This record gives sequence, C-alpha cells and structure tokens, in this order.
Amino acid sequence: MDKFVGLHPREAVQQVSSSLGCSPSSPQVAAHFDKNDELQDLRKNFLVPKIADLPVSDLSLVDGSEECIYLCGNSLGLQPKMARKYLEEELDKWAKIGVHGHTDGSRPWAWAENNIEDLMAKIVGAKTSEVALMNGLTVNLHLLMLSFYKPTTSRHKILLEARAFPSDHYAVESQIRLRGFDPQHSMLMLSPREGEATLRTADILEAIEKEGESIAVVMLSGVQYYTGQLFDMAAITQAGHKKGCFVGFDCAHAAGNAELQLHDWGVDFACWCSYKYLNSGAGGLAGAFVHEKHQHDVKPA
Ligand SMILES: *Cc1c(COP(=O)(O)O)cnc(C)c1O
Repeated sequence: MDKFVGLHPREAVQQVSSSLGCSPSSPQVAAHFDKNDELQDLRKNFLVPKIADLPVSDLSLVDGSEECIYLCGNSLGLQPKMARKYLEEELDKWAKIGVHGHTDGSRPWAWAENNIEDLMAKIVGAKTSEVALMNGLTVNLHLLMLSFYKPTTSRHKILLEARAFPSDHYAVESQIRLRGFDPQHSMLMLSPREGEATLRTADILEAIEKEGESIAVVMLSGVQYYTGQLFDMAAITQAGHKKGCFVGFDCAHAAGNAELQLHDWGVDFACWCSYKYLNSGAGGLAGAFVHEKHQHDVKPA
C-alpha cells in the first residue's frame, strides 16, 4: 500500500475506483484494499465473532457460520488470541503462589503498570517517564485538570468541543465550578459551521487566536468519538502555547488508532483508555501523559 502513503483516504479510494472502473462504494474497491493490505496478516491474531453468536443476527439473510464484519474497535476491539494465554498464566501463578504473585514471577502484579509503560509510551509517542497507567479515563482527566486548570479572573476559560464526550463535558463543567467559576462564562464550546459535521482546523486556530488570552486550558479530543475527526494536535498545541494556554487532549479514540507524537508536539497533558482500540475491556487501566517539561513544576494551587 506504499503508493497510498500521504494520500487522503478519499483520494486513495478515488484512485482505486477509477483504476478499476467502478464506483467508490463498490465491493470490488473494498476487496482490492483488503487484498493489498500489508497488515492483513495481523487479522489472524484476533478472534472474530461468528454472525450466529451475535445477539442481533437475523439469520434469514446471512450465513451465520461466517465471521462478522467487525467495525466496533472504537467501543471494544476484538479479543487478541494471546489474551487467554496471558490470563491463564496469571491465574496459574495466583493458584500456585498466592500473595507472592504481587512481587514474584515475570510480571509482578504490584508493579503491573510497569510492564506496559514502555509499550504504551510508544503508542502515544511519549517518553516512558511521561506516562502513567492508572484509574479510568475520566478520573485521570480530573486529576490532570486539577493540576493544569488554575483559572484567574482574566484567564478562566476552557476551550472544548460543543459535542464533547458527555463525561468529558461534565468533567470540565465540574472543574470550573470547583474553582468557583461559572460554566456559562468559562466553557468556550466550538461547533462545526452550519451544515458541516466536523470542525475546521482553521476555525479552531482562529478561536484560540481570538480568545486565547482568556483561555486557561484548551481541551479537545485527539479523534472525535462521534465523527471520527482526527484533530491537528500539533497545530492546536502550537496555537494554544502562543497564547499562553495549556493544551491537553483526550485520546480515548486516538490511542491505538491514529499515530500520536504527544512529546514532540509539546502537548502539556493527555488522557486515554485501554478499553477501546487497545482491546483491554472493562476495568482495564487508563493512561495519563504529562510532558516532561512539567516534571519539576511544584507550584501550589
Ligand atoms: C470512552 C470515552 C470516555 C470514557 O471514560 P470513562 O472514564 O472510562 O467512562 C471518556 N472520554 C471519551 C472522549 C471517550 O471516548
């Protein structure tokens, strides 16, 4: 698929459909991409549900013994075949050595997060020392906002999307109240233009340029959970910093999905979870990122 590198997905689809002489939405175009996908070999590492086992199948129309087409990685990715092996290893260890499992074995539970920090740092483009794996996403967002949102009477706003994920919206609202400010005046929400589904980067940058002096924190998603829009995190971070704002991203739908370079982009903070594209499931650890430039900040609130 090298020839598609740097192409917008729409352009790649158009190129293939015109070379095959069929419509961009035809099955031939999809089959062509499948056949030429250099990552296709990875598919066999995952368990794909059979159609007949799904609770909503109408078996009068399809062959239930076939694997379903799974497009829900945004909510919970497929089970990696290795997950069972790793879980069994830990269950065996628990059975055999009980409490000693906290400190013994190849993956001591007491430092469970240390085993995956290196891997997770690569996924989000961070140094290992900038990443912590803990809690759920919204808890991490609150903890990060407690450190980064220090409103003053002149700089008290948080810039976010009008259709942010509901729990992000509520977290921002409660952080504003916690500091004694009024969400009515301190939540600055960006909506797409009339008739458009996604935010234009230029409009985001303009809002930061125009309102930046009153914005304490810019808090957007990396990939919008509803529209799938990938935000230009590098440009947004740069624009926010130019105006003296802290810039953070909720990467729930970006981690494991889009290429991230949180360190190089200079992002101040980020949070994400492992229970969407990273396939961990309910109760899996969430992540937090704080750029190393803040590692020695000890200013009291
Ligand atoms: C999934 C998701 C969450 C979920 O947060 P929890 O604390 O795990 O409930 C939060 N924000 C966004 C943008 C999400 O996509």
